[in-house]
Amino acid sequence: MYVSVLGEQFHRARLSPAISHLDSASAGRSSNAVIGTISAHLWREAERGSYVAADDQAEEFARDTRDLASLIGHTAEEITFRESARAALRALLNGWSLPVSTTVWVAKNEFGPNLVEFERRGYAVRPLPDDLDGHIDLDALENMLQFEQPDFIHICHIGSMSGVVQPVARIVEIAHAAQVPVVVDMAQSVGHVPTVTGADIVYGTSRKWLTGPRGVGFLAVRRDSLRTVEIESSEAFLAGRLGLGVAVAELQRIGQQRVFRELAAIGRATRERLDGIGSWVVCEPVDEPSALVTLAPPPGWQDADLRAARDRLFNELGILVTAAESWRAPLAGDQGVLRISPHLDVRREDLDQLADALRIMGY
Ligand SMILES: *Cc1c(COP(=O)(O)O)cnc(C)c1O
Repeated sequence: MYVSVLGEQFHRARLSPAISHLDSASAGRSSNAVIGTISAHLWREAERGSYVAADDQAEEFARDTRDLASLIGHTAEEITFRESARAALRALLNGWSLPVSTTVWVAKNEFGPNLVEFERRGYAVRPLPDDLDGHIDLDALENMLQFEQPDFIHICHIGSMSGVVQPVARIVEIAHAAQVPVVVDMAQSVGHVPTVTGADIVYGTSRKWLTGPRGVGFLAVRRDSLRTVEIESSEAFLAGRLGLGVAVAELQRIGQQRVFRELAAIGRATRERLDGIGSWVVCEPVDEPSALVTLAPPPGWQDADLRAARDRLFNELGILVTAAESWRAPLAGDQGVLRISPHLDVRREDLDQLADALRIMGY
């Protein structure tokens, strides 16, 4: 039995999984239509030549870009594509004319590899205060901005090892009142939670919650952004871009708000089902509106134990989850977590089976 009323529809659009796939935060399962669109374009490239095939699909590319733009609150002209979210961030930082000693404020859920990009460029990074659950403390932010303004605020809308959803729209309002631009990493949020936030610059990837193909990332820079960013276009995986277009169209056909509501309900059901099983503890508030769920392991567990648990779940039971180690969010501490990220087709049986396995592994 599906947890969500959309489960059957999501399932029918795809190949039946050979495993219990609870890992959309790594990569979601693409629909048959997405895969068909990608292959059709590869065939067209072979038949007519790649550049001709691209010209032939010009209208599709334009429509797909408009659809993606409306999903993330930008215009089509503001979007460029890269092969990943990280490549999009690099393109941004390489093209943005920032001062020599740049200051960036981030939340504690900041993705480790993003911090590496900032540090490599010599930026001063400052973590913002948060509430007990990990959401940015908006009052503290407002106060801090009265005394000092960073060159930009960078927010992971949802991080890689926590299902906490940052209040991006409010952060943007507060930052803009102080003339500070906001950049949002939407790798875990696009296709998952509402992403029209008013942010100046956003980027993300096709392959996670949108269930588009791997190898397609996007970057959108608002035209009236406070500083100019120069990003030239380059060679691209055009078949993949068409696949992403189909994935976005599928989301819009079901209704994005409906999908977001159902994913939030799935997150809640997953947390309720798993919390406290065998002394595993859910890290997010139960009703955090995301389907990314993290479990802190029983006391005394090291990262190696977590990795072994993930491997046992997969090898012995065919349950795919992630052992998320602290490099993913180094500012949040050094505790690794088990990350469970079901999509719309999760069934009660999948959660029951995982709960039974965790009970045995949790002592
Ligand atoms: C996955 C992820 C990224 C990186 O995305 P890639 O497309 O693999 O580069 C960035 N930020 C967060 C929060 C992520 O979860």
